[in-house]
Order: sequence, then C-alpha cells, then structure tokens
Amino acid sequence: MIESPLLPKLTGYVGGRWTESPDGNTFDVYNPATGKVIASVASMSESEVKDAVEAGKSALRLTNPYTIETRRKWLEDIRDALKANKEEVGRILCMEHGKPLKEAQGEVDYAAGFFDYCSKHIQALDAHTLTEKPKDCTWTVHYRPIGVTGLITPWNFPIGMIAKKLSAALAAGCPSVIKPASETPLTMIAVFTLMDKHVDLPDGMVNLVMGKASVIGKVLCESPDVPMLSFTGSTEVGRKLILDTADQVKKLALELGGNAPYIVFDDADLDAAADNLIANKFRGGGQTCVCANRIFVHEKVVDEFGQKLADRVNRMTVGDGLTEDVDLGPLINKAGFDKVKRHVEDALEKGGELVAGKKPADLGEGHLFFPPTVISGITPDMCCSREETFGPLVPMATFRSEEEVIEAGNDTEFGLASYVFTADAERAQRVAAGLRFGHCGWNTGTGPTPEAPFGGMKASGIGREGGLEGLFEFVEAQTVPRGF
Ligand code: NAP
Repeated sequence: MIESPLLPKLTGYVGGRWTESPDGNTFDVYNPATGKVIASVASMSESEVKDAVEAGKSALRLTNPYTIETRRKWLEDIRDALKANKEEVGRILCMEHGKPLKEAQGEVDYAAGFFDYCSKHIQALDAHTLTEKPKDCTWTVHYRPIGVTGLITPWNFPIGMIAKKLSAALAAGCPSVIKPASETPLTMIAVFTLMDKHVDLPDGMVNLVMGKASVIGKVLCESPDVPMLSFTGSTEVGRKLILDTADQVKKLALELGGNAPYIVFDDADLDAAADNLIANKFRGGGQTCVCANRIFVHEKVVDEFGQKLADRVNRMTVGDGLTEDVDLGPLINKAGFDKVKRHVEDALEKGGELVAGKKPADLGEGHLFFPPTVISGITPDMCCSREETFGPLVPMATFRSEEEVIEAGNDTEFGLASYVFTADAERAQRVAAGLRFGHCGWNTGTGPTPEAPFGGMKASGIGREGGLEGLFEFVEAQTVPRGF
C-alpha cells in the first residue's frame, strides 16, 4: 500500500472537510507496473455529491465577489505548494499512472505553470468601460463567475488536466466539484491535501468527489446549481454529457479525443523529425491526446526515416516508472494493453511490416509493458488509422503530394493536434491552414503550454484551455450600460 504524508485521508473533500463515506464503500487503485493494489479510496454516494454541489453554492459570491487580489493569492499559493512538493506529488502520480518518475514530476511543474499563468494575467478579468459610448450610455463590461462548475478529468495527466481547469475556475471566482478518473484519484487527493494546508480557500470553494462516474455525472448534469461542466476525456463520454445537459443548456467546455497526423515531407530534417516524434509519441507511454497517431512520411524518405526511428526505438527501455532511466512505463490497464495489441495484430494481418518492436505472439502475459513498436505500410482501412491507439505504436503510411496528405490528415472525425515537418515555410503555412486541428506544430512535436490556447476542432471538443482564451472560459460577460 502507498504511504505518503500527502495522503493522510483517502476520502472526498466537501465544504472544507475530509468526508468519511457513511456507507463505507471503496474502490481500489492499482500500480500498473506491479499489478498490485496500492490504495482503497472512498466511493461517494449521490447524496454526498449533492452535498458537494451545495457546498460549492455556499462559496459562490456574486454581490460581494472575491477580489482579484484574493483570487491571485489563491493561485500563487497553489503554484508554490505544487512546486515545493513536486517530488512527492510526482512519486504518487508515477505509482498510480506508471509514467517514468521524472516525467511525472515534470507534469507537476507543468500543472504549477497554469496557476502561475492565471495569477499573472488575472487582471484581464477585471471590469472595463468601453471607450466608445454607444447609445449615449457609458458601457461597462463585467466578467462574472459562471457559478459552481463540475470539473471532470481523465487518468492520462492526473494533475496536468485539473490544473488547466481549476486555475481558470479559481481565477474567475467559481467554486468547483472535482471528479478525478478512478484509475488515478491519489494525485488529486494529494493536491487537495496541499490546498487544505497551504491555501486560504473559503470552505466549499473546492470539493473532491470520487467513485462511480455514472452517479457523479448524473448529479452534475442534473443539478440546476451547476451551470457549467468542464470535461476532459473520451469523445464518447463528451457526447453523453452534451445530451445529458441539453435540457438545461449548460455551458460545456470539452477536451476530447485526438487522432493526430504527423507529416514528414522529403525536405524535412529527418533527424529532428525522428527525435521530435520519439519525444511526442512515447510521452506517457503513448497515452496522450496529442501524441502522433498517424504518421505520414513522403514516399521518397520513408525507408530512411523508418531506419532512424528503429535506431532510436531499439535503444529505449521499458519498465517500472520508479526505476532510474526508464523511458516508457506500463500501459494504464488491461483494456488499454489489449487495444494496442489489437491495433498491431490488425496492421500486421492487413499487410503492415514490423520495423521495430515485437510481434503480438511474443508479448507475454500477465503484465502491462508494451514495447515501442514501429510498423510501415499502413493503409486507411487499418484500425490504427481509424481509432486513437493510446499506446506506443508508430504506424507509418506514405504520401506523394501536399494535397493528398492534407486530405488524409483530415480524414478523421477528430481535430486536436497535428504536426508538419518541412523546410519550406510557405508549404508549412498552407498545410497548417488546411489541417482542421486546434494545434499544428511546424518542425516541433511540442504540445500544449499554459501561455497559449489549446483545444480541439470537430469531435475533439469545444472551448480552449490555457492562454487568455482559457482564462475566460469560466466567466460570463455582463454589460452594464449606464444612462444619464
Ligand atoms: P473517459 O473514459 O472519457 O473518462 C474521463 C473521465 O470521465 C473520468 O473521470 C471518468 O470517470 C469520467 N466519466 C466517465 N463516464 C462519465 C459519465 N457518464 N459522466 C461523467 N463522467 C464520466 O476517458 P479516459 O479513458 O479517462 O481518457 C482518455 C481520453 O481522454 C482519450 O480519448 C484522450 O484523447 C482524451 N484526452 C483529451 C485531452 C484533451 O486535451 N483534448 C487530454 C487528455 C485526454 P471514471 O474514471 O470513474 O470512469
């Protein structure tokens, strides 16, 4: 079992207090590297989730709002607490998610960056008066907190994803009811322990609920006291939330699935393209929404590029993230492992060639460690072209022309991240404009950052996180024209 000073309780947190579940229900949390249970966490009932919403409601201030200075201090204190406890939070994250320890600790820094960004730019949420005077009135624009928000996060970035939402919600003055993924609730408990100890938040401003998604989701969707949900996760669940909140016309911020194209032209620096692909693809074991899922390589350079990838991939180590110098941890669970295996099997059956990695028959049983795998000869009918693999598979297809590859890149319902590698600046601009993706890296595989808006087009979501656009997600503009 995991021991940590940041996990004094394994329960929810409602109205400024850790809450014991009256019925004593719990669920288990596993270390995917060992397959062992590391904690049993309280599974909350519908009435406790309703209590969390009530607590949020009591913390909301409309007529006497929290000042910008107060909100900035909350953000700064959370940032500082995360930075000061980065090693221990990272260790907890590594144990429940499986990603390498350094990467896990890097995610804590990344999370702190969102609180830092919002603290530095919160002034943008202050009211302002228009310089023109339409209709002979003086117009003031106020940014009001939307109200109590439900924040629902996935397991693949146990702290990164909540940081994006919570920083903007607190900047706006919105209380929140937070539901982490059931695979990774411990990192969130650690964050609540830090907020409880180090941040002077009003009771009810942040509430933690854990347990059955159907129970928690129902309360958050049905409660008229929760006017907004911010959700990161699969497109499938995102669609359900749209349907379940339609009656009340709730505001939804949705960060959903991806199927990123990674395009390498024949004039690209192939070493840089290969290095960036390794960093992009294998972060979090390939379980990120922004990781390259379909690799399109110009037919003239596909063999050379494949060799460069194989050289790099064959040097990578796979193992328990707590072990020094591990590049790749385990996948999150058996369903995730089986999905990657199915994609590899399907690609090989349909004519793909294994460039690096193992054949499915050689993977072994009873563990979640999937070796980094490269397959060439990918075609659009293969599962890995159609679905998000969410694992360490690099499937390479070829292309001949710019028009053809833009069309192929867009041939998906998703539109989150995309990448293009070329030495030709004009071509890069054309390709970026043609790709219907919220993010298009040119000669870089880098993903989101606190300073820039990030989010999806098409079925990858609604809204943006990060940057000024993300800061404004949790407020509603209210205009107050004053007549004379
Ligand atoms: P998921 O199955 O959709 O779950 C995400 C969260 O939603 C979890 O906390 C889950 O709870 C909860 N949930 C499930 N059903 C719900 C319901 N009916 N009502 C309310 N909440 C519900 O996704 P995942 O497997 O954790 O995450 C992987 C997906 O997230 C991938 O598709 C990935 O691309 C996407 N993602 C997108 C972004 C982005 O920025 N666009 C970032 C990261 C990940 P339980 O854990 O208890 O089931």
